[in-house]
Amino acid sequence: MQYLSTRSHDEKAASAEAVLRGLAPDGGLYVPEAIPAAGLSEEALLSLDQYALTAHILKKLLSDLPAAAVEAAVRDGYSGKFETEDLTPTVPVAGAHVLELYHGPTSAFKDMALCLLPRLIAASSQACGVKEDVLVLTATSGDTGKAALAGFADAPHTRVMVFYPEGGVSEVQRAQMVTQEGKNVCVCAVRGNFDDAQRGVKDVFARFAGKNVRLSSANSINIGRLAPQVAYYFKAYADLRRAGIVQSGAPADFVVPTGNFGNILAGYIAKRMGLPVGTLVCASNENDVLTEFLQTGVYDRRRTFHKTASPSMDILVSSNLERLLYFASDGNAPLVAELMRQLAETGMYRVPEALLARIQGEFACGKADDTAAFDAIRRVWESEGYLMDPHTAVAWRVYEAYRASGRCKNPAVVLSTASPYKFAPAMLEALGIPVPENGFDAMEQLHGVTGAPVPAALAALRQKPVLHRDVIDPCGMLAYVEQKADQAQWAK
Ligand SMILES: *Cc1c(COP(=O)(O)O)cnc(C)c1O
Repeated sequence: MQYLSTRSHDEKAASAEAVLRGLAPDGGLYVPEAIPAAGLSEEALLSLDQYALTAHILKKLLSDLPAAAVEAAVRDGYSGKFETEDLTPTVPVAGAHVLELYHGPTSAFKDMALCLLPRLIAASSQACGVKEDVLVLTATSGDTGKAALAGFADAPHTRVMVFYPEGGVSEVQRAQMVTQEGKNVCVCAVRGNFDDAQRGVKDVFARFAGKNVRLSSANSINIGRLAPQVAYYFKAYADLRRAGIVQSGAPADFVVPTGNFGNILAGYIAKRMGLPVGTLVCASNENDVLTEFLQTGVYDRRRTFHKTASPSMDILVSSNLERLLYFASDGNAPLVAELMRQLAETGMYRVPEALLARIQGEFACGKADDTAAFDAIRRVWESEGYLMDPHTAVAWRVYEAYRASGRCKNPAVVLSTASPYKFAPAMLEALGIPVPENGFDAMEQLHGVTGAPVPAALAALRQKPVLHRDVIDPCGMLAYVEQKADQAQWAK
């Protein structure tokens, strides 16, 4: 399968090359030349287990990787790493269904892709005959960083470097990252917000001159991140079919707590591959740049950045929207390049009416601020005994409004993206319980109140020594990466 850049059809790469590079040389994102059909009969969809289903989807999207390598990546990447037997349970809650994507090793949905990505990169590296190490650069709004570190720690021929916004992640998210062990891992705080870190990483890609390593990315700009996420939409739909919630071929709607637009774009790709997806509902927190875009066609990042209780969605430049613009304009790369130029130079763009209309035909949207999300957490806990984290609660609240609007005609799945224990202080506040100063005390207190088990890896964090203390300015990122890339080992 050939991949093209969203900004120019001249930038072609086989899927292995696209996974290795992360970002296309012209700054665009890789997209498949044609989105492949899933080629799954209903019978196959209902009979394959999640491993086989994921491997099937990956083989379609990354077709020039050896099938055996893909199957091994899924098997070895997921086996023994999840706290639940069903990797992603679909749980009925108050008339909707919650797709729990956070039972992996770092308690966030990023694990679904990042358990596999190191193996996909290794397979890609081999397929392309690359000899040097791959250095995986990652900007994180909180969860990608730890999931990438856990996935890549001590993986052969790879190194991973994570940049997180200083003060922009939860205490537990930070502890997860700065205690990470491994000879090939590096964690650094950036004085700025997620957008600064993400822009810095893109800038390093454009200007990096080191010779000892090849750069790649673990952010959802990498198609190797998106492809595994497509698979759990198929799995969730199969769950609804098996439970008799949807009839054969009938659509289901998906409500997605959104930041960088990767998760929801995976749902769009699933739909284009043939899954009966009805409306994709994009849920934003107070940083509602996407809600405004989906309503008006104007994307304007010139606005106040809000720190919220759902930090992994505190993003003003949603990278993967670029891929949607490409797909929904039937691959109009010159248009996408022009819009991205306007965004870089003026901070905003407006899409043509016809393009907006097409997007609005498939997407709905809504926003929920912290007050609304906390209200949802408390109500659902009190009436259903079901606990959801602040990100999921944003989506739940938007789902409620969507249902109340009368537009929701199909069974709905709300994607749940993190364990409540990653955000214990916010959870306690939402439940109206006094919040202790320390995040780990808050975790124990939340356990005491709800009885829901604390993920073992989170409970163990408190005892771990801090191994990473670097803090730099965004403008220092390139020099930092080049200096680190020259060092043979990063062992402490
Ligand atoms: C990353 C993340 C999101 C946002 O996902 P995108 O793919 O960036 O839109 C939502 N919730 C949690 C908990 C996350 O970690």
